[in-house]
Amino acid sequence: MIKAILFDLDGTLYKSEIIRRKFAEAAYNTIAKLKNISLEKAQLLIEERREELQKKRGSAVPYTLTLLSFGIPIAQWHKENIAFFDPREYLVEDKNLKKILAELKRRYRLAILTNNNTVQAERILEALNLNGVFDRVFTYNTFKLLKPDPEFFKKAAAQLNAKPTECLVVGDRYCIDLNPAKELGMHILEVIGPLDIYNLGSGLDF
Ligand SMILES: [Mg+2]
Repeated sequence: MIKAILFDLDGTLYKSEIIRRKFAEAAYNTIAKLKNISLEKAQLLIEERREELQKKRGSAVPYTLTLLSFGIPIAQWHKENIAFFDPREYLVEDKNLKKILAELKRRYRLAILTNNNTVQAERILEALNLNGVFDRVFTYNTFKLLKPDPEFFKKAAAQLNAKPTECLVVGDRYCIDLNPAKELGMHILEVIGPLDIYNLGSGLDF
């Protein structure tokens, strides 16, 4: 029986081309600054690395993991993207999402499990008007762990007082969100954005 639902944040609870672009620009900016190169060069470097990593892994690689592959400390990347853009300028409330999450909350413990940092995650939840909806918001800062590390999933489940088999993980990326969860015995649901979450209440028959 499912007791807890863990939602990925970016690309799962909202879909925004502007924010995707802002993350990309923040990443270019970070590399340009640290390596003292032009923005154009930084962009080329990062996109080439993303392509390499994608070929190796078989799926698209997020900017956070791409930057880590350059040896950029994650705390620095988070500091840069927090300063570079505020998602509240680009996101608006999603009434359908809020409604379904409120319904799910009556039956399940709800949590966010994101590689994003706490500042950006809180800004995003505020913009979507989802403050207070989640029992827990697990970010990189919570345990200093990143998906797909299975420890991140295990620790989150433990804090929700749920066994892995009692968790459902909802996310938009197999390699980051779903494969590690599945290996731990968690239930998984692939979505391509919030539209797939609107009908989740009736579809949950675990
Ligand atoms: Mg995602």
